Amino acid sequence: MIAVLKNGTPKEKIESLSHYLTEQGVEVRVWEGKFQTVVGLIGDTSKIDDNALLGMDFVETVKHISEPFKSANRKFHPDDSEIRVGDHVVGGGTFTVIAGPCSVENEAQILEVAKAVKASGASFLRGGAFKPLTSPYDFQGLKADGIELLLEAKKETGLPIVTEIMNANHLPLFEDVDVIQVGARNMQNFELLKELGKTKKPILLKRGLANTLKELLMSAEYIMAGGNENVILCERGIRTFETYTRNTLDLSAVPMLKELSHLPVIVDPSHATGLARLVEPMALAAAAAGADGLMIEVHNDPQKALCDGPQSLTPAQFDQVMKKVNKVRAALQ
Ligand code: PEP
Ligand code: MN
Repeated sequence: MIAVLKNGTPKEKIESLSHYLTEQGVEVRVWEGKFQTVVGLIGDTSKIDDNALLGMDFVETVKHISEPFKSANRKFHPDDSEIRVGDHVVGGGTFTVIAGPCSVENEAQILEVAKAVKASGASFLRGGAFKPLTSPYDFQGLKADGIELLLEAKKETGLPIVTEIMNANHLPLFEDVDVIQVGARNMQNFELLKELGKTKKPILLKRGLANTLKELLMSAEYIMAGGNENVILCERGIRTFETYTRNTLDLSAVPMLKELSHLPVIVDPSHATGLARLVEPMALAAAAAGADGLMIEVHNDPQKALCDGPQSLTPAQFDQVMKKVNKVRAALQ
């Protein structure tokens, strides 16, 4: 349920309304825009009388929100969310490119890739330290040492870092990580999401292999319900009957999510296709579809990569993609 307040409603009235509603047992979220203030109500709103609210001279309208996601809902927050990470802002018209290897393998590798992607204009460095691989016999990541190497690369290049968490017990290791990634396989690990909701860290939440957009938004809601509003959504392809590509990139997810939610949406064409040669066309399409950014796997020597080599771009290929993406962005403006 939301109450839209009239333009210019004084702060005291907003505060007393929030107080009144909190007393009725609902949680209140206030969004103050330039021309409008929206008071969002979360929880059991059955006892709230629409007419009592409409009787207040500063209340313009009262609407009931049918969607199960509330904090993530655009109706609660009509403007795009802007998520601050150091000097960088994700969302709200900016374009964020996160690039780097699937896994951090060694110091030389991560430093080389970090310098290259920075030179091409990436805004964040990615690299898996804890890897959620299908086979327990495959490389599982360098774990804490991988995070140390990412921090070293951050020191060298100034690029903020993005890396995946698989277990809430590892949170202390992520203290200096700029953006914590929740991978597709953990999108519905609700205990993990709840723990991340208690932090203030920006969370990059990837869509599950077989999850609907509503489920993705409900997972974002788990994080936001705990008080952490810094959620970035990521479309990374879903599983379909198609086998030529690793997954099927659902590009319509971008405008759909942006209609339903105020959260930024980025696209990962690497995991979506599994093929390096398809990364560029899908990255361009994602930019054209209105994505707030991209996540792209880049490796200094894809053929020797310990993980996801076939979908990884060389730094030179990544540079080309960046140039073309910038052209698409310019054409849209
Ligand atoms: C990744 O980004 O390294 C990854 C494992 O992706 P996903 O969770 O989308 O499969
Ligand atoms: Mn990967």
